[in-house]
Amino acid sequence: MKPAVDVDRIRDASLLPIAEKVAQGTRLDTADALALFRTPDLLGLGHLADAVNQAKNGRVVTFAANQHINPTNICVLRKTCVFCGYARLPKEDGAYRYTLDQVLAEAEPARTGLTREFHIVGGLDMQAGLEYYTTMFRALKREFPHVHIKALTAVEIAHLARIEKLSWKEVLTALREAGLDTMPGGGAETFSAAVREQIADRKLGGADYIAVHRAAHELGIRSNCTMLYGHVETMEDRVAHLSMLRDLQDETGGYLAFIPLAYHPDDNELGKRLQREGRATTGFDDLRVLAVGRLFLDNFRHIKSHWIMVTPFLSQVALAFGVNDMEGTVVREKVYHAVGATTPQGLPLAEILKLIRGAQRIPAERDAFYQVIRHFDDDLPRVAAD
Ligand code: SF4
Repeated sequence: MKPAVDVDRIRDASLLPIAEKVAQGTRLDTADALALFRTPDLLGLGHLADAVNQAKNGRVVTFAANQHINPTNICVLRKTCVFCGYARLPKEDGAYRYTLDQVLAEAEPARTGLTREFHIVGGLDMQAGLEYYTTMFRALKREFPHVHIKALTAVEIAHLARIEKLSWKEVLTALREAGLDTMPGGGAETFSAAVREQIADRKLGGADYIAVHRAAHELGIRSNCTMLYGHVETMEDRVAHLSMLRDLQDETGGYLAFIPLAYHPDDNELGKRLQREGRATTGFDDLRVLAVGRLFLDNFRHIKSHWIMVTPFLSQVALAFGVNDMEGTVVREKVYHAVGATTPQGLPLAEILKLIRGAQRIPAERDAFYQVIRHFDDDLPRVAAD
């Protein structure tokens, strides 16, 4: 189905050739993406993104009932990821590493609740090797066999490979045998080497992030991908980042969703500098990144808004800017709250339904593979999975 583009809704004349491409289903190039990032016509951009989204997903907006577990905040990169307020050195105040019993206790709400997915990420902890995670995943699968395990970013996979002297594929294979189902997209930040030098000097590079995801996709492990924006990156950096994600998706088709992550300037070293310089993301920018992601990543079906960072209300508005998936009913989010996120740590189901319906969209609960598992309005159309 072709997007229903109405050129009368475009106020910036320089967007008209792009609108024509969108209407025809022609792939946008990097110059188009830059123009979309720079246009003052936010509503025109939103209209294009919404038209593409509705052509792909109709008016259905999905969410997953998930539960975050952050098993360790001890991280060897504590001093060099200057945007991170979550990590600690082993002997620092607030450092923790859960025992298996503590992980199971944290997971306990999934026994009686609606949780269908554990989202498990943490620091690069030298004392939490492959066995720490395989033991954890096996125990979680034994106790909660109905719950999907989405765990460990590409950065954590590479860290485990390094400390265990194994290849990425060997680590991924062992984790999958223990229960890992899919991978989250965190750790991408912005791929540009110049940006990483400033914000995450020693972290896994962009090309290696892509290579770990390629290795996962080749093993049949699907993943999400992200982009941290709103710090020191340029618009060209954003476009180059999106291009790398689009290229891998062309190659493997293994990505489930793109999830832009707004940089949070509170309680971290980088934020003090950026706030002094008057820089931090705004609602305008948050909507723009989601909309450009929808338009440029033409080989992605799902674009997700992360209300933990941009607030539930802005996530709701994003549903008119190309977004078809909202972060779900999270239980106990820690990573972004460690850097000052003031959003709730979890949203009740009723609140998510209210936000989606308030945007004139149709709510549906999904599983980790974006298959709809529950509708809330019986007379409404069903969405097919990828
Ligand atoms: S962002 Fe990740 S890798 Fe960097 S310090 Fe924080 S927990 Fe460690």
